[in-house]
Amino acid sequence: AHLARIEAVDEKVHAFLHVDREGALAQARAVDEKRERGEELGPLAGVPLALKDIFTTKGIPTTVGSKILEGWIPPYDATLTKRLRDADVVVLGKTNMDEFAMGSSTENSAFGPTGNPWDLTRIPGGSGGGSSASLASFQAPLAIGTDTGGSIRQPAAVTGTVGVKPTYGAVSRYGMVAFSSSLDQGGPCARTVLDAALLHEVIAGHDPLDSTSIDAPVPAVVEAARNGSVQGMRVGVVKEFAGEGYQAGVMQRFNESVELLRELGAEIVELSCPSFDKALAAYYLIAPSECSSNLARFDAMRYGLRTGDDGTKSAEEVTALTRAEGFGPEVKRRIMLGTYALSSGYYDAYYGSAQKVRTLIKRDFEKAFEQVDVVVSPTTPTTAFPIGERADDPMAMYLADLCTIPANLAGNAAMSLPCGLAPEDGLPVGLQIIAPAMADDRLYKVGAAVE
Ligand code: GLN
Repeated sequence: AHLARIEAVDEKVHAFLHVDREGALAQARAVDEKRERGEELGPLAGVPLALKDIFTTKGIPTTVGSKILEGWIPPYDATLTKRLRDADVVVLGKTNMDEFAMGSSTENSAFGPTGNPWDLTRIPGGSGGGSSASLASFQAPLAIGTDTGGSIRQPAAVTGTVGVKPTYGAVSRYGMVAFSSSLDQGGPCARTVLDAALLHEVIAGHDPLDSTSIDAPVPAVVEAARNGSVQGMRVGVVKEFAGEGYQAGVMQRFNESVELLRELGAEIVELSCPSFDKALAAYYLIAPSECSSNLARFDAMRYGLRTGDDGTKSAEEVTALTRAEGFGPEVKRRIMLGTYALSSGYYDAYYGSAQKVRTLIKRDFEKAFEQVDVVVSPTTPTTAFPIGERADDPMAMYLADLCTIPANLAGNAAMSLPCGLAPEDGLPVGLQIIAPAMADDRLYKVGAAVE
């Protein structure tokens, strides 16, 4: 049924870069056969899923939304991919994304944009717009995203779906193409809080192949999602998450959610996190710096595209020609910004200062969590904007990440879930819930209570 739905609507939505029809059917049949033989089935046996094209999939193309990896077939599965297979999930295909996960609208994909199923002329968020659009258009009941600065939560918010960025280190990064390694985190996308929890439990857990993977039990997220409640909880509202640039209808729905939390028995605490104002600036130095280092591996020798290799050119020339052709403008912009920020003489002024701001943001959160159990905010300052509106204005595009980035810089767990439609445009608004690291279960407890 899901493959038929993809066939019927994805020409318009363009959520998928690659549909693995044969593979999905074979996997579904294998689950049926297992069932017939009376064998024990995985926890998500037979459930279809859309996988962001940033995770390696053995024998199935993985492009990361970039021309530079077009045609590359990974020889191995990411740990996350393997866990999905072990859980008997049926992977339908790979979803569209901003190139190397850099963007907030999926317009930076080398393979064309994805439409928001609520209004195809608008962006589905990014970088994981393909995953969230696949859920909102009922092409898949579950999807996977990655969140470096908001790429799970922001697409969830603007498509009216649920997205969770687990605690940094909770989900293995092995086989997840690296953008900014100290921030990157894979996580679940779904249409309900409980569905996200069921997927969370399958993909989280220690992995010796990832040196930053947390070696501790996964919080009881499914139990929390089944027992939603905010009775007696302290919920923080941060005053820096409001003001200029926030759409009136977004604030209206957010304020109603805060009222609902109060009615359900939560104590609302107003907080100030003064360093959050500098989060965007710090992020847009740290993420490009790490990306400039990570993307050095795309040298035309190891993977994918190779341009101009006619036997007369040096390896360096071939690398330069390949990168010129294979990387899009946003990726080039970030590599240049990052190499500049890391260069000797500038390191302390840029990268060093950004790291100090990161520490201040962490401290703001630590202080906040001395007073409250979770923090709530709008997920995004505005609803989905029209495709093309911010395409030539990187600074305007970066503003979409205003509320999501602090949680990445601090490594906290965070969720976005729908909290109604903005009255002025009828488009979905997202409520963000942020919890301390390793308290991911609180997101689900609160999320299930207000869903
Ligand atoms: N929009 C942010 C960026 O462009 C976040 C991306 C992400 O989370 N992968 O960097």
